[in-house]
Parts: sequence; C-alpha cells; structure tokens
Amino acid sequence: AEPRIGIYGLGTMGAALALNMAENGIDIAVANRTASAVPAFLDRAGALGARVTPCDDLAGLIAALPKPRSILAMIPSTAPMDTFLEEVLPLLDEGDTVIDAGNADFHDTRARAAATAEHGVHFVGLGVSGGEDGARHGPSMMFGGPEDSWKALGPVLEAIAAQFEDAPCVARLGPDGAGHFVKTVHNGIEYADMQMIAETCELLRFGAGLAPEAIGDIFARWNEGPLASYLFEITAEILRTGDPATGKPVVDVIVDSAGQKGTGRWTVIEAVRLGQSATMIEAAVAARAWSAERDVRQEGGEVLGTTRGILTLDPDAVADALMAARVLEYAQGFRILGTASDEFGWDLDAARIAEIWRAGCIIRARILDDISAAFHGGATQLHLAPAFADVLARGLPALRRLVTDAIGAGFAVPALASALGWVDTMRQPRGTAALIQAQRDRFGRHGFVRTDAPGTAHGPWWD
Ligand code: NDP
Repeated sequence: AEPRIGIYGLGTMGAALALNMAENGIDIAVANRTASAVPAFLDRAGALGARVTPCDDLAGLIAALPKPRSILAMIPSTAPMDTFLEEVLPLLDEGDTVIDAGNADFHDTRARAAATAEHGVHFVGLGVSGGEDGARHGPSMMFGGPEDSWKALGPVLEAIAAQFEDAPCVARLGPDGAGHFVKTVHNGIEYADMQMIAETCELLRFGAGLAPEAIGDIFARWNEGPLASYLFEITAEILRTGDPATGKPVVDVIVDSAGQKGTGRWTVIEAVRLGQSATMIEAAVAARAWSAERDVRQEGGEVLGTTRGILTLDPDAVADALMAARVLEYAQGFRILGTASDEFGWDLDAARIAEIWRAGCIIRARILDDISAAFHGGATQLHLAPAFADVLARGLPALRRLVTDAIGAGFAVPALASALGWVDTMRQPRGTAALIQAQRDRFGRHGFVRTDAPGTAHGPWWD
C-alpha cells in the first residue's frame, strides 16, 4: 500500500514512533541520515516491516510519498532541523507538510513555520511526550500547526496516541509554536514534580531516617491514592531497586549531579519574558544547576557545616502537603500557558491540554482529571478553583508545617518552599509593592499611584 507518512530519523524516538504506526495499521516510508539504520530498523520491525517502505535517503523518502506529502522528522530540533529543512524544501511541493516531532524551542518553530509557508509548505511543531516507551506504545502529543495539516494527520496521530478511557491523548492546540510551547511547559511541570519528589525523599531519608526501600513503599502506597502518577510509580520502583554490583540501593551509587537539556530552562525564560513566573519550576531548574557544582557544595560543607536536624514526619501529612504542592505547580504551569496563549493569540484550551496529559506522558497523574474538570467548570486560576478548595484547606497547613520543619532543621527544600512563597503572596489583597514603589520613587523619581487619587504622584521627598 502507499505510505501515508514518511519518517525521517530512526533514532530512539523515530524508530519507536515508526513501529507504533506500523503496528496500528499505518503504512509508512522511512529513511535516516546514516542509511545503515534502515535495514537495522527493518530487522527490529519483523512482521511489521510489511507496512514499511524503506528508503535510502531523503530524496527517496520524498519520492515514495503520495501528494500532498507528510514527512515527520525525529531528529534534534536544533541546527540539524534547519539543515534538514534546507535539504527537504526544494524536494517538496505546495500543500506538503513537514512535522518537527522533536523538542524544539517554540521560537524556532514559529520562525520555521513562517519560512516554510513562503514555499507553500505547512509546518507542524509536534510535542511528543512519554520517552521511548510512550513513542512505541502510545505517547501524549501536542500538535501546533495549520488546520489542514491536522485534518490530514489527526487520524494517524489519534491511532498511535496513548488512550485515556478511549479518548486519544493528542489534540491540535493551536498554530505554529503552540504544540512545542505546551510541550515545553509540560517539561517544566515535570521538572517541578521531580524536584518536589526528590526534596520529599531527602526529608524522609535523612530527616526521618527511613531507608530508601521504606520510602519506596510509601511512594507505592501514595500512588494508590489521589497522588497517583507515573513519576510516583517510577520513584517507588527506583527506591526499591538495588545495585547488582554493590548491593546498595541504586540511588546511592549515582552521582548527585542532574542533567538537563533545556526545556525546564526555556519554561522559566519564557515565563519571565511573558511577565510571569513559575517559582517551583525555577527552583527545580536552579536545583539541577546547583547540583552540577559539586566542588562548591563540597567546600560549602567544609566551611558552613553539613549538620541537619531530625524530623518527625507523618506520611499522611506529607501526602497532604505534596497534594497541595502539586496543585500549585500545575497552577503555575497553566498560568504560563494562559499568558502565552493571550500573547501569541493561540486560544489554548486548558481543559483539553489537561486531558491529553492524562495518559502517555511523563506527568500523567490522577490530578489531571480534576484539573480538566476545573477548567471545564470555568476556572481560570487552579489554586482558586472550588475543586481544589478541600485539597488546599488540608494541604496548605501541611505544606507549611513540612517546609518550616525542614528549613528549621537545615534541609534545602527550594521547590516546596517556593510554592508557599507564591501562594502566600497571592492571597494577600495588599502586598509589599507599595514600599517598592516608594523606594523606586525615592531613588529614581519613578513615581507611584496614590490609593486615593488617579495619575502619577511623587513622595514628599521630592517637594
Ligand atoms: P537519537 O540520538 O536516538 O536519534 C537521533 C536521530 O537524529 C538519528 O536518527 C540521527 O541520525 C538523527 N540526526 C542527528 N543529527 C542529524 C542531522 N544533522 N541530520 C539528520 N539527521 C540527524 O535521539 P532521540 O530519538 O532520543 O531524539 C530525537 C528527537 O526527539 C530530539 O529532538 C529529542 O529532543 C526528541 N525527544 C526525545 C525524547 C526521548 O525521550 N529521548 C522524548 C521526546 C522528544 P543518525 O543515525 O544518522 O545519527
């Protein structure tokens, strides 16, 4: 049969997506920069290879596709994507679609969409979450691109997407960079959730003195309730896994310096650019950056001391605290999405985004059901939504206790503490900014607005 779509790039993710398509009855054509990857892929594909048209190179791939063509590139979305576009555009016709399914900076996606449009070629920025497993068996996908491309590709993507209660976890979220932007913020929320989990494990282990296995058991139990989520599930598994070489818990043989590829940082940068902020994501990005400074931390311990106190922690109260923190991290993430949507005219559907994150992606979590319901119910700020009133009424005092105990004992909890810093700011009708305005006027004659009169005023220090 004629292939419906061409896949360029048979690395970890590209091969997994291609196998997923073939398994779901979609005929595909494939090619890879290094041509030897194609026969290797066919070997892996086994019987699914019947659905695969192997191609030697990019020109062969384009020639194998019926018009209008759809080519999905799963290669690094940085310079290689620009090189790829330079190569592929002369081979394409008006009405064809190029899909960048990598983790692109949405600014690049917007620029690329504008550039390909000059050739009459559609450009789709497709955020794909779920890692290799997700790509192979059902990812969550965030589509940004023209309606026409969605009409052509939607059925293919729906067939390979993760399913949540029979609804596919993929949607067209908006034009050009919308899909990649939502994927970026997804990753930002992922950073915050991972950091809050890591901080909690630290408190349970070195504050409360529990062994990793016991903490794994607690996470497994939490994963049965409202905190159920993929990240809790794998945390439980990780903490209960031993290192075959040493017999130690596997977490104890891993160097404590976290990698990052940029999506967390992009989320923070875009948030700030948009006049927004997401303190929990910022804290998570900062914590990863600090983790790389092992020498400075070593010296810090020598100069300032490593002492930390003992904590008495009730796992049920910690669970309440984590539930509150999770509401707040999503609240912050969705605020960035809302602001970007206004700024770029995307008209993002927050409820739909929460829905397509319920399966297939790394941040899939039970709470997303309530989040989508809250947005369907008209919520604009998740932390104020009636659906979360009870969770926060119980969770915020628990979070406050956890953070004050932790800080009192000398534990670093940047993500958990920053959640409180934000929500405590956002519940005071009159905040601290009057003094800031006075200071700005005093040193820079910047002026301020009086509470009792419109217009710009100055303090008596300028009389
Ligand atoms: P891999 O390293 O496994 O594969 C990279 C692929 O890109 C290979 O097919 C490689 O071809 C190709 N490639 C690299 N450079 C070029 C180039 N200059 N021109 C043409 N092709 C090139 O990476 P992944 O599959 O993990 O990642 C691919 C994309 O998916 C990235 O954008 C990544 O950010 C994104 N992604 C990855 C996730 C993951 O969990 N790994 C999750 C979600 C998105 P060759 O064989 O010739 O080297």
